[in-house]
Amino acid sequence: QNPSVPGATPITPTAPIRAAAHGGRAKCLQRLVRLGLPVPRTEALDFDTVRGIANGARFDAAGLLAGFGEGVLVSVRPSSAADDWGGPRSVLNIGMCDAAHARLAHGVGAAAADALYGRFIHAYAVQVARLDPEDFDPAAPIPDLLAAYRAALGEPFPQDPARQLGDVLRAMARAWDGVSARLMRQAQGAPADAGLGLVVQRMALGVGDPRRGESGSGLIQFVDGATGQPQITGRYRSQSQGREALLPGADSLFVARDPRGPALEDRCPEIFAALVEQGALCRTRLREEMQIEFTIGHGTLHVLDAVRVTRSAPAAVAIAVALATDGIIPESEAVLRVEPRALLDLLHPRIAPDAGLRAATTAIAASPGAATGRIVFSAAAAQAAAAREEPAILVRRETASGDVHGMHLAQGILTIRGGPTSHAAVIARGLGVPCVVGARDLALDDGAGRLTGPGGLDLAEGDLLTIDGGTGAVIAGVAPLIEPELDASFRTLLSWADERRDIGVRANCDSPAEARIARRFEAEGIGLCRTENMFLDGGRLTIMREMIFAEAASDRQAALDRLLPVQRADFTELFRIMAGRPVTIRLLDPPLHEFLPADTEGIRDLAAALDLPVAEVKARIAALTEVNPMLGMRGVRLGITLPEIYDMQVRAIFEAALATQPRVTPEIMIPLISTRREVEIVKARIDTVAAEIRVETGENFDYALGVMVETPRAALRAGDIADHASFLSFGTNDLTQMTYGLSRDDAGRFMAAYVAQGVFPDDPFTRLDTQGVGELLAIGATRARAVRPGITLSICGEHGGDPDSIAFCRDRGFAYVSCSPFRVPLARLAAAHLAI
Ligand code: PEP
Ligand code: MG
Repeated sequence: QNPSVPGATPITPTAPIRAAAHGGRAKCLQRLVRLGLPVPRTEALDFDTVRGIANGARFDAAGLLAGFGEGVLVSVRPSSAADDWGGPRSVLNIGMCDAAHARLAHGVGAAAADALYGRFIHAYAVQVARLDPEDFDPAAPIPDLLAAYRAALGEPFPQDPARQLGDVLRAMARAWDGVSARLMRQAQGAPADAGLGLVVQRMALGVGDPRRGESGSGLIQFVDGATGQPQITGRYRSQSQGREALLPGADSLFVARDPRGPALEDRCPEIFAALVEQGALCRTRLREEMQIEFTIGHGTLHVLDAVRVTRSAPAAVAIAVALATDGIIPESEAVLRVEPRALLDLLHPRIAPDAGLRAATTAIAASPGAATGRIVFSAAAAQAAAAREEPAILVRRETASGDVHGMHLAQGILTIRGGPTSHAAVIARGLGVPCVVGARDLALDDGAGRLTGPGGLDLAEGDLLTIDGGTGAVIAGVAPLIEPELDASFRTLLSWADERRDIGVRANCDSPAEARIARRFEAEGIGLCRTENMFLDGGRLTIMREMIFAEAASDRQAALDRLLPVQRADFTELFRIMAGRPVTIRLLDPPLHEFLPADTEGIRDLAAALDLPVAEVKARIAALTEVNPMLGMRGVRLGITLPEIYDMQVRAIFEAALATQPRVTPEIMIPLISTRREVEIVKARIDTVAAEIRVETGENFDYALGVMVETPRAALRAGDIADHASFLSFGTNDLTQMTYGLSRDDAGRFMAAYVAQGVFPDDPFTRLDTQGVGELLAIGATRARAVRPGITLSICGEHGGDPDSIAFCRDRGFAYVSCSPFRVPLARLAAAHLAI
């Protein structure tokens, strides 16, 4: 080995190469060298040296080049700390000049020498001299290229290899500080001062004289990047560099045997066998599935580089589990290698990534999954489409309770207004229906039945639309979708996660369908059943409305008597599906007007159903309408003013529990508490109902009473409240809304601007605001525990499915988080990451 120059370190097995100083590519190359792979001589320039070069510091390019030997060509490649931080394009064939050209014409043939020189002049002209690529066709005759260079710059093409290398290093070092490169890596989460390393490598040419053996270059990997299953794939091209054919007639081959065409495996079996062996070595020793970039020069194999195989979310799971199963990495590391948020991609259909379609707009991704269907503008039309078994996308300005029956039946939901915790978003997540909200670029004229938007988008009812609730994309027409798979590796990975995590994961479920999903995803129980959603089905909604419209207490009781068996059946079914796991049922929460129609047609139908004049129905609805219903007569306020509703619900819960084997201890939760006295009043009534049922049935039973902490006052007075509650569940949706004084349904109007300008670091409805809302959680937890040390604490707002918010709850010793059933796997994995 020749000695090196200051700032450059030859990559040898023992050289002090560090990813944090020389970049990931340099470090990986050193690992390949240590494994004995045939890597051409490589020198690594560290971040400081490259920064210096960018700032004009002297660097001994001639000395560096001398180390490679007389007349050797080299390449320069970027080596940043993380793979996805980008970097300048590699430059190959440095050292090509008239003399090298003449020399190579003898060694590898005139055509190959021309190709190498032409390619280098092109690269140097474009990347270093920043000339127009149009003027430098690499396939043009060399004299023309040299003349074009001279014409553009008034000087001959540089012939000194050391000067060429110095220029390339400087150009690449400076490109790292360009505006677009900086923005690119910022978007990938790189710190502002992220460094760039460069690796200078002896060229393995990939072109040569066919009489002296095979020459070419290619890529090989040993798993399928889409599925993660073992499979040798890759491309090889003879007479090429970096997948670009340099000589005419260069064959394109698959690396392994393939029915679609000829393979390297057949043409060069020994080289193929060597690559397979090297791949296996990389897998066991680098503990990762690598893609190897190689060159063959006159029959000799060179390994230029290796990178982690790019992989889909399912492949990431399969690869991690296989590595652990083969004993290459521990199970805990397999768990850590899968990013929890990536699981969301796995659980829902998504738009095929190679579909190459352009979105009409990209709005807030509110409930993952992609769906295609015909546009409908009302819940009734969604119902009609479902009856015809025709997939529909429900497009609304925003949604309300009256839309739920249509949302349930739609393939996907798109709203013009709203944010991540708007009605549409929360309901859609619960239902597992793909949903995009806050598509403010689009305009909805439901009178005319048109959806219009940028780029001349103009769609009518019945036109096809595709949405992707995982990305927020809205696409006119049909897009090809990929179905989710829950394969064995996915289940294995989550079982490893469960063995390690130390915070519980429950699901928010309002229906048997959701409870079944929760079971499939192995939730430990139901942490929140929003009972209001049980009343939104056609027949029940009518009884509910009769109850709301009842003038006399006896009429109200008659309606409630009809709801009782329905509720009892709902709860029995939930208890049965959850098979002994805990189920927390929340008593009715929303303001009553949410159960009433808002449109003329609905009002007319209701008047007919109740046999009342339309004017009277309108007057009653007006009387129930509140200016700010989120802060009005809802939650426990309803329970105290119209106690018969809670009485009915509680009776249904107890009777269902008594009818269930094995017996369950129901958990009853009161929403929107702000004072101790509210809890006392409701508890007294629950106890009365329990006593009545004990007398009626002669059976003894127990229940647990909990309080939702959703108002700032409830958090501050948690000590008082804990006296009467065996568990507290933080409803961080309302708590966030009330702490900020920020409406959940209207936040979408300015949230993007607020986040963009850094007013909020994130949307606080998606990621828990640990400073403000989190402080209320911490205060509530401390004060509740001071009074009742064993009290069970949990969170059941949307934040329960967010990894950072889960970390916050775990740090404060919460017993469990409860989230949308589709987020349960993500929460299980995120919780395990925290415990490892
Ligand atoms: C909450 O407010 O956080 C909550 C879980 O209740 P809801 O979303 O039903 O208001
Ligand atoms: Mg709430």
